[in-house]
Amino acid sequence: MGPTMATLNSNYLKLKAGYLFPEIARRVKAFNEANPEASARMIRCGIGDVTEPLPLAVREAMHAAINEMGTREGFHGYGPEQGYEFLRTAIATNDYRNRGLDVADDEIFVSDGSKCDGGAILDILGDDNTIAVMDPVYPVYVDTNVMAGHTGDANEDGSYEGILYLECNEENGFVPALPEEKADIVYLCFPNNPTGAVASRVQLEAWVAYARKHGSILLYDAAYEAYISDPSVPRSIYEIPGARECAIEFRSFSKNGGFTGTRCAFTVVPKTVTALSADGVRRPIHPLWHRRFTTKFNGVSYVTQQGAAALYTDQGKAEVASLVEHYMGNAKILREAAASCGLKVYGGENAPYIWVKGPPAVQGGPEGLTSWQIFDRVLQEANIVVTPGSGFGRAGEGYFRISAFNSREKAIEAATRIKAMRW
Ligand SMILES: *Cc1c(COP(=O)(O)O)cnc(C)c1O
Repeated sequence: MGPTMATLNSNYLKLKAGYLFPEIARRVKAFNEANPEASARMIRCGIGDVTEPLPLAVREAMHAAINEMGTREGFHGYGPEQGYEFLRTAIATNDYRNRGLDVADDEIFVSDGSKCDGGAILDILGDDNTIAVMDPVYPVYVDTNVMAGHTGDANEDGSYEGILYLECNEENGFVPALPEEKADIVYLCFPNNPTGAVASRVQLEAWVAYARKHGSILLYDAAYEAYISDPSVPRSIYEIPGARECAIEFRSFSKNGGFTGTRCAFTVVPKTVTALSADGVRRPIHPLWHRRFTTKFNGVSYVTQQGAAALYTDQGKAEVASLVEHYMGNAKILREAAASCGLKVYGGENAPYIWVKGPPAVQGGPEGLTSWQIFDRVLQEANIVVTPGSGFGRAGEGYFRISAFNSREKAIEAATRIKAMRW
């Protein structure tokens, strides 16, 4: 006999119940309760959320849009699912065509977030694809594949059967080597969260060649593109010849325009990216993504899209530049503080994250401290919340992430306390 009541998606039961951030919250709460005087001093350098106010250009555009909505002539109901033409043109022109990259307006899909798009993209890809992710990894890539039933169970260390983990370490500069085996779908994130690493042109060329050789699709997350300061580092995967045949790019206004709470992002799906259908025919995926978008999504609000478009005005661009400069100023302060303690420090130059290798164990011996041991020490001695590297995957063990998303005042204070710690 079959089930006698409604069933659920058992794949969700395979998920390691949101381990990282709840565990951080639990430890911080316990510390604060035990040390009420220290709790007032707490500085959060843990979460990857922006702190500075929304740019004036955005707010003015949103105010104007809301006033327009209050008139009969300016009212907007359902908009185009793919996004208003004014925003898609601004994106394609400024982020791509003005940089010599061939991206058409109708290859841009405006959404309410890259996180959502990253999960949604699995709707149009087959269930039999082999999946590769970087380790350490932004957990969304893994968890959405677990939910979609693309993995086996979780192992002790939090990794999943059926996912190919591409180890990122000091030796490879946190840019993974090409795997021996074929992966159909490869998630790449540069500048990287959590390591802050960037991939060079040569490294991205190798990935595009790999994808074209194996017929793989690269899911390229460029949420931190605005933080690239090194002019030799590609800002888009489409700077690599051949990427239009194999790569989907995810971009977001969250980290450049401070839109984490306002919500707007976009995905680029070139019409030239193809994949096999069950009958063995190579087909473009653009029509499927378009169909998914128009069926399951009704677009981002007009007001929000006007706000996003304002980021491409001269004033908006200047404000984005000053936000990036602010956070990268923090990154420099925090990076130098950790380095001055003799710690090995990565990232923080083209990304708002500093990836720090923990000190050797106090008792001597070759083994360093675990990420959670470091977390506890930084919490107790400096009253700073960092993110344990092991929360992003096995290869993150022994590291911790410091976020530069903070006020300047707090970044300076955090740096002072890091330097005062007995590492
Ligand atoms: C913050 C972030 C995003 C952006 O997600 P939104 O849903 O657009 O806010 C995407 N990818 C990574 C790795 C991020 O850290």
